[in-house]
Amino acid sequence: MNEQLMKILIIGDGNVGKSSFVHRYVNGQFNKTYKMTVGVDFSVKLLHWSDNKKVRLQLWDVAGQERFISMTRIYYKGALGCVVMFDVTSSSSFLSCRQWKQDLDNKAMLSNGNTIPCVLLANKCDLSQRVVSADSIDRFSKANGFITWMEISVKENKNIGEAMRRLVEEILSVQ
Ligand code: GDP
Repeated sequence: MNEQLMKILIIGDGNVGKSSFVHRYVNGQFNKTYKMTVGVDFSVKLLHWSDNKKVRLQLWDVAGQERFISMTRIYYKGALGCVVMFDVTSSSSFLSCRQWKQDLDNKAMLSNGNTIPCVLLANKCDLSQRVVSADSIDRFSKANGFITWMEISVKENKNIGEAMRRLVEEILSVQ
């Protein structure tokens, strides 16, 4: 049995649902009033990927940041994949994704010099007051080198496992 460790970063503006996402994915729960952690924290999830392969995901959530800030290289060090998240009811959180992705691409790279696989997640798609169209997300995702984008709802448990599976598949395929 082979086990691989994967450090994955979860970045994006504050309040878009990053810690709820990690909590849902790791513990299978959604807490409405989730305590905001300050600083960087990580959670672990073990995936039984195939008969002879396990993947130990280390999810690093950049918590306590309202808006984009340039992260230190230490945070990015050794990361193999990334989730950039925004809230479909907040256009400013969508606009920040460009900076988060650029900071990532400037500071994190694979040993072959390529940028690390990154998915763009449009959270809170359960809410009706959506302000970011699917069309603009699709254009932005293609123009900025994301492997794919998905609409998710941490609240309704929609597309959470699917998004992470897609990212892990891509990480394994570029190794
Ligand atoms: P973070 O600052 O990015 O880590 O965001 P949090 O995980 O703390 O979530 C911010 C707020 O959004 C909390 O009140 C969550 O309950 C709420 N939230 C997170 N995901 C969803 C979702 O999919 N739908 C809705 N309606 N609310 C969500």
